[in-house]
Amino acid sequence: MSTCTRCGKQRIVTSTREEKVGNSLVVYTVTTCPDSECQKAVNKNLKSEEIKRAIMRDEQEKRALLRTSRKTQ
Ligand SMILES: [Zn+2]
Repeated sequence: MSTCTRCGKQRIVTSTREEKVGNSLVVYTVTTCPDSECQKAVNKNLKSEEIKRAIMRDEQEKRALLRTSRKTQ
């Protein structure tokens, strides 16, 4: 059982998905906070984390490109 990282309430399992990985069956559970407002905030946080990560990845790639182009000059 998982608890909400934001409010500490027990999260509700909304759906489960089974997937075969190699020889074992992996069960993914999708959980949501019983507090819909809290869940909205959690989703928002997740989205902004994703965006931050995407930007960081982009920056790293740019820096890597700069490094390689400098080397060749
Ligand atoms: Zn919550």
